[in-house]
Amino acid sequence: MRTFQQVSGLRIYLRGIRAEGKTIGFVPTMGALHDGHLSLMRRARNENDLVIASIFVNPTQFGAGEDFEKYPRDLNKDLQMTSLVGVDAIFSPSLEEVYPPTHRTFVEVEGIGETLEGKRRPGHFRGVATVVAKLLNMVQPDSAYFGQKDYQQFLVIERMARDLNLPMSIIMAPTMRESDGLAMSSRNAYLSPEQRKAATILHEVLLDAQRRVDEGETSAARLRSELEAKLAREPLAVPDYVAIGDPDTLDPLTTLEGRAAVVALAVCFGTTRLIDNAVIAPPGVTVPKMRVSKPQ
Ligand code: AMP
Repeated sequence: MRTFQQVSGLRIYLRGIRAEGKTIGFVPTMGALHDGHLSLMRRARNENDLVIASIFVNPTQFGAGEDFEKYPRDLNKDLQMTSLVGVDAIFSPSLEEVYPPTHRTFVEVEGIGETLEGKRRPGHFRGVATVVAKLLNMVQPDSAYFGQKDYQQFLVIERMARDLNLPMSIIMAPTMRESDGLAMSSRNAYLSPEQRKAATILHEVLLDAQRRVDEGETSAARLRSELEAKLAREPLAVPDYVAIGDPDTLDPLTTLEGRAAVVALAVCFGTTRLIDNAVIAPPGVTVPKMRVSKPQ
């Protein structure tokens, strides 16, 4: 497996790969890898001739008081894990390589980047859209892979890529979960044993949401209050939001009759804030298993 810290070396390597007519799949990450990240890399491995992953903890997407400094970092362990799933190259640039002192350009995605996470974490999606735009320009892959775990982030990146006419497919892959249903996340490591146990409530709420629409519930308001009531029964969970929205725009829905919806949750356990989501639909409405956005 090749490793690169500088864009210049990476570009020379990738130019050679492209000249051989090979396709490139790209998985951007912030490291502290788990099976969720690896599933994106496996998917990229199946669909491309060459797989490259990046490991970069992006400071511009962390707000003041968030965990940029204490975000878990273990490059050696990450390199071992990526080599096991057949990643060909890792790009792990320094802070200065991505944001030299002259850097002044940021990417802002209006609308979709301003609700839910965008509202609660001002500047977060500006940081995400900026770093992903930069990484996509550095790597210039045929396809880039992102997890459904960060559903709104995917919509922001998809909008950014299409609005900026970036010439690659943007692909969403399913959320990987622990055996008890908790979505894998680098932040799960911050949970105490009691909080870790209580955190399964997020997945239970999402399963309940699908069960209730299977039973015929179509009112988004009623569904939302039931889900909120369930969360309120877990003493260690402090809910931030329960949103039921359009899967493409996240606009709040009033009814689920004949249509799919995304249920998005943010819940705090002590100082650790977890998010999760599921796309639900009434009987007879099919939810596409994956989402692929191709360039024009
Ligand atoms: P991060 O390192 O947290 O920025 O995540 C890098 C990529 O992995 C993003 O596209 C995430 O959505 C994705 N990801 C994180 N957790 C999971 C998971 N449990 N299942 C699938 N993808 C995930």
